[in-house]
Amino acid sequence: MDLVKFTRCHLSLRGYSTWDVEVVPTLTPFGRAAGTTFADRKIYFSEHVMAYLDEFEQKDTALHEIAHVIAGLTAGHGDIWRNVFLQLGGSGQVNWNPSPEWLAYRFRMLLGSPQTTEETR
Ligand SMILES: [Zn+2]
Repeated sequence: MDLVKFTRCHLSLRGYSTWDVEVVPTLTPFGRAAGTTFADRKIYFSEHVMAYLDEFEQKDTALHEIAHVIAGLTAGHGDIWRNVFLQLGGSGQVNWNPSPEWLAYRFRMLLGSPQTTEETR
């Protein structure tokens, strides 16, 4: 999976084609695996961290950040952001952990339910 292409397709499909995606070698400007900046309308991914994630985790990271773009800066990790994240087909989790919800999400993605976003790949 091409993470940048996946993210750009999602942004474009939802009317956010003026947003950009950048992969940085180490950590994002926030010192994290990924981040969204509203000032320069950009989603950042850490190449270093992404290399350790499998396709499910990379997709979920992208959907997490896209949900930030759609929900807006003030939404944080609140209910509005979480609902957008779930509607995009993501896990709704702030961080990855082996919770029942996370395992159910991975299983759903494996089976390719209609709620997944396969058409963008
Ligand atoms: Zn976040």
